[in-house]
Amino acid sequence: MKFPRAVRRLLLGYLIIHLLTAGFFVFVLTGIVRNQMIRDARSKMEAMASMLVEHVEELPAGNKDASLPAYLIRLGEETEMRFTLITAEGIVVADSVTGTQDIGPHGTREEILVAKKEGVGFSQRYSATLNQPMMYLARRYEPTNANHAGGFVRVAVPSDSISSAIGDIQKYVWLFAIALSALTALLMAVFSARSMQPLDLFSQAARRIGVGQYDSIPQVHHRDDEWGELGEAFQQMQSELTRREERLVENSQRLEAVLSSMIEGVLAIEPTGEVMLANGAACRMLGLTHSELVGRKLLEIVRIPELSSAVEKTQIQRTFSKTEFKTITTPKLAGPQRTLKARVSILANQDKPGVAIVLHDVTELRQLETMRRDFVANVSHELKTPLSSIKAYAETLRLGALHDDEKNLQFVEQIEFQAEMLNRQIQDLLQLARVESGQTTFAMTDVAINQVCQTCYEQFSEIASERNLDLKLELSEPGPISRSDRPSIETIVKNLVVNAIHYTPKQGSVTISTACEEDWAVITVADTGIGIAPEQQSRVFERFYRVDKARSRDMGGTGLGLAIVKHLAQAHGGSVQLKSQLGKGSQFQVRLPRV
Ligand code: ADP
Repeated sequence: MKFPRAVRRLLLGYLIIHLLTAGFFVFVLTGIVRNQMIRDARSKMEAMASMLVEHVEELPAGNKDASLPAYLIRLGEETEMRFTLITAEGIVVADSVTGTQDIGPHGTREEILVAKKEGVGFSQRYSATLNQPMMYLARRYEPTNANHAGGFVRVAVPSDSISSAIGDIQKYVWLFAIALSALTALLMAVFSARSMQPLDLFSQAARRIGVGQYDSIPQVHHRDDEWGELGEAFQQMQSELTRREERLVENSQRLEAVLSSMIEGVLAIEPTGEVMLANGAACRMLGLTHSELVGRKLLEIVRIPELSSAVEKTQIQRTFSKTEFKTITTPKLAGPQRTLKARVSILANQDKPGVAIVLHDVTELRQLETMRRDFVANVSHELKTPLSSIKAYAETLRLGALHDDEKNLQFVEQIEFQAEMLNRQIQDLLQLARVESGQTTFAMTDVAINQVCQTCYEQFSEIASERNLDLKLELSEPGPISRSDRPSIETIVKNLVVNAIHYTPKQGSVTISTACEEDWAVITVADTGIGIAPEQQSRVFERFYRVDKARSRDMGGTGLGLAIVKHLAQAHGGSVQLKSQLGKGSQFQVRLPRV
């Protein structure tokens, strides 16, 4: 049987106490027995002394009687005692051991001195004559006549017999005490080991709880003692801990879900500068993986001075700070640089507190701001050009050209042309703004695309032939039908055909064709014109972007035609594609959802 350490200690303590108690009892008991034995021996000695006194008093010559030494020797042998007759002066007259041999004066012996005073004297001491510890009892007797001089009768017995009897008693009592201790200790050990058995279970369970295993609580069945209560307390603790753990897990999952669904990047930084939490958005914005960020010093992996100083400022001033910075392009952070706005705030109230950083990606916002600024500048510039011309022509007329019959009409025509240009630009701008802002209300109908192209062809065939261009129409049968806003589709085709005519030199050709392609109605306007260089192809759809500014203006172009085409196509759920080769021609293909 394995004894728990607590039981072993208890047993050791018990044994020590038991043995100390046994020792005390042995001490007290032997004291009592010794005293009793001494009392018994003393009363026996007193009886013998009285008998001897009577005998001496009966003798005719008293203590000087010649028969006395032999009598004493015989009496001594019979009783195993020592008898001594001593005169009142302390001279030994006869002794049962030494006979009449002179053993020196005995008047100063303790028992004699006491007997002299009190009649009877008792002492225990070592006998120099017999060389052993003895008990002595002396009795004084008074002189009765001239023959009977007084003196002392002394009876002595060795103390050895009492000491050895006491020793025996002590031995047996000790043996009994040790046997009893061993037996009771054994029984105690068995009972306590059994009653302490659950302790081991509980200590193992507590250890497992310490490492987060709440499922292994000891089952203490059918016990209505403290162990049972402890078992119940453990069960309660288990369910409470499990409940709390579940709540913690739930909370952290909820927090994780919230953090991961956030568009803003969130970082929590320890006071030491290490990242303790980073959500997906933060990782994406900084171009790092979660494992690259968490547990490492932020300012060592993201070397952005603006962010470093904002964090430092927040920690020192215990306030929040804002900063804006551009990301450093890394192999993982593909694409253009992003502009991030960071809001840094205190995380905990410590000497050097941790911080929370919330990152906003403001790249698009900043791009839009730039675009808006550019747009305003572009519009002002574009409107200024025809206005300056109008102003210049009007001034020229005012300064005299009005009366110049050769030029005045030409100048007025120029003013008209520039005003028309201005008007067109404003119309185009307004149309673009309406489409972009979603304000245009499209009247959606089933539009026969072939019909729209036919009308456009008819509208521009004359202009094309004036410019020596071959305008062709290739319609697919059956023609595609698109659910769309007819005027918008007309604008798209018209803008593309006008451009094709404008940018195709004489003798060239422009082809308007239609086709059905799966779910799409396709309109293609192809020309054999000047073409567009590959690097310009994506830019021609931007507002006011022109490959050749002068040529576009001469043609009365506003620089907004293709932007309008793109936005209208997109507003109908379609797209526009450009294929072009410089010097060989361009092909614009518009896809619209087909009915
Ligand atoms: P614009 O009024 O100047 O024609 P657009 O937006 O319609 O403005 O076209 C933008 C620019 O794209 C034009 O200035 C021109 O340089 C180029 N472009 C458009 N269509 C063609 C084409 N068919 N062939 C060659 N270049 C073209």
